[in-house]
Amino acid sequence: MNKSKKKYFILKRVSNIDDRLALFIFTLLAFYGFFPFGIENRFLIGTLRILIIIIFSVFILLRSKGEEIPEKDEKELPEKVEKDIEIIQKFADHYCREKKFDTEKEFENYIKRILKVIQESFSANSVLLGLFDQEKNELVIKTYVGRNDSLKSELYFSPNEDFSNIIFECEKTIIFQEEKVKEYEKIVYKSEENIVSVLVTPIFISGEVIGCIFLDRKVKKDFDENDKNIIESYADIITSTILNYNNIYEYENSLSLFSAFYEISKKLNSNLGFDEIIDILIDILKKIFNYDRISISFIEDESGNAIIKKVVGQTDEFVENYKFSIEEGLNGWVIRKNKSILVSDLEKGDYFIPRYTIKEKSNHELRSFVAAPISYHNRCLGVISVESRKPNLYTDRHEKILSLLANNIGIALDRSMIYNQLENLATTDGLTGVNNYRHFRKKLAEEIERAKRYNLKFSLLMLDIDHFKDFNDRYGHLVGDNILKNIADTIKTSIRSIDFVARYGGEEFAIILIETVMDEAYLSAERIRRNIEKLRISYQGGTYSVTVSIGISEYSTGVKSEDELVAQADKALYQAKAEGRNRVVTYEKL
Ligand code: GH3
Ligand code: MG
Ligand code: MG
Repeated sequence: MNKSKKKYFILKRVSNIDDRLALFIFTLLAFYGFFPFGIENRFLIGTLRILIIIIFSVFILLRSKGEEIPEKDEKELPEKVEKDIEIIQKFADHYCREKKFDTEKEFENYIKRILKVIQESFSANSVLLGLFDQEKNELVIKTYVGRNDSLKSELYFSPNEDFSNIIFECEKTIIFQEEKVKEYEKIVYKSEENIVSVLVTPIFISGEVIGCIFLDRKVKKDFDENDKNIIESYADIITSTILNYNNIYEYENSLSLFSAFYEISKKLNSNLGFDEIIDILIDILKKIFNYDRISISFIEDESGNAIIKKVVGQTDEFVENYKFSIEEGLNGWVIRKNKSILVSDLEKGDYFIPRYTIKEKSNHELRSFVAAPISYHNRCLGVISVESRKPNLYTDRHEKILSLLANNIGIALDRSMIYNQLENLATTDGLTGVNNYRHFRKKLAEEIERAKRYNLKFSLLMLDIDHFKDFNDRYGHLVGDNILKNIADTIKTSIRSIDFVARYGGEEFAIILIETVMDEAYLSAERIRRNIEKLRISYQGGTYSVTVSIGISEYSTGVKSEDELVAQADKALYQAKAEGRNRVVTYEKL
């Protein structure tokens, strides 16, 4: 329990005493309490009475503060959601043993838990699940999460209302704003709720819409395209839950899938790099599929070549960076057609079907094969394939799941690629506003030229944030990104305007101190390090601080190239890390 919570806790204990009783005792004490002690001095009694009244007022004040339970802390949300998943998992474990849900109520509770996680991960105000009642021709809402006191007790949409008409025709995810939101509000809530955006997604079973999920938001952030994709994945999980009402083993699958989607949506909402996105995807696939090989490949160029970016499990010759033509195997077919594929047994057919290339071995140890395109706006970027030695292992369901995952990944990758392309064109780094790596290399080359010509010296600082991976893991990438921005700003204000700072990559910065020798550079680096150490960064209700390590090299006549200078600063930085971090180390001292 942290300090402020502890305080609230004590105050709450005090506030539990009944006010009226307290008032009575205090009055009694104030007026009669001191006579038995033989105090006869009127002035003293008067003073004591005033003192007691003051104490009583303070007590009342404390009481009102004690009830002031701290506002929902944004930082705590992810933890809460994690807990929710844990509860669901336990819940499922229990019912897996019991083999089935005992009552409809339990089934409903299970769905409610899913809705709760949806609510948290979308920052939704309420989440409702409506199912069509064919006989009454109504959409009935039985299960919802939100504030019960503000939602109406009988909740249904009938097709003669304007808003509901759309719902009854709803075949794809729709985002509502403004007037339509008002109509929705009237049907769902008892009074005006200031809802700003509503997201509705249909639930299909065998191609027929059987109901909808509604999400509404009060915060001034409308639902967007990315939300649409993620909610559709959740809808799919709810479908499988409904479909498999009697098959509890399937629940377990839908749960791990459900946790996986939650993880994806959480992670992909932050701006991740290409490699990080791929790593997340691999982790999730490993959890969901029984596999002997998973590979992720991307189109390399316009000429019809693809390259394996990541492969896990049995690799054979298909290692990372293996190139293949999209004209030859199953992986290529998926990219060309932008379609998923399921082959139950590769050994079964009369002729050989290659997976990557016609040159590969023709006896397939890996027999089940399922693959889906990674695409965005109908443009295929690559393919994910999953294989197993067991024949007939994968079903339509696996194909569907893989497609959904690939779809989500497509969006994130596209964003990251566009970001990279723009990044290359500009000289500044998009996140921190300082110079980018490309510009740094150019500047470094120029400075070396200048130093050679005029016989000058300058210093190079390499700065790396300490334990930043842990920091990200603990507080999330968005907080991490904010830290990066603040650090960049602090470096800028700690150096002269003629000096040069760049984001070298990830969470490393390179600083060129013009016409500065090592000793002077050390002082500047110390100043930067101290300024960052002192920094208290406030972001979304939390306050954060980090430390950095810095390595310094000096360009003098002995140094031959740009690379050598960078390598020396890097070596010093490595030493600073090894010596315990939060320090500056110069190359000459090694
Ligand atoms: P050390 O002190 O030993 O350097 O530990 P570290 O955890 O900082 O290790 P390292 O420098 O290898 O970690 C790099 C981490 O920085 C990985 C990643 O989580 C984080 N990171 C890299 N780029 C970004 C970014 O653009 N945004 C955010 N939020 N984090 C990033
Ligand atoms: Mg680093
Ligand atoms: Mg680091």
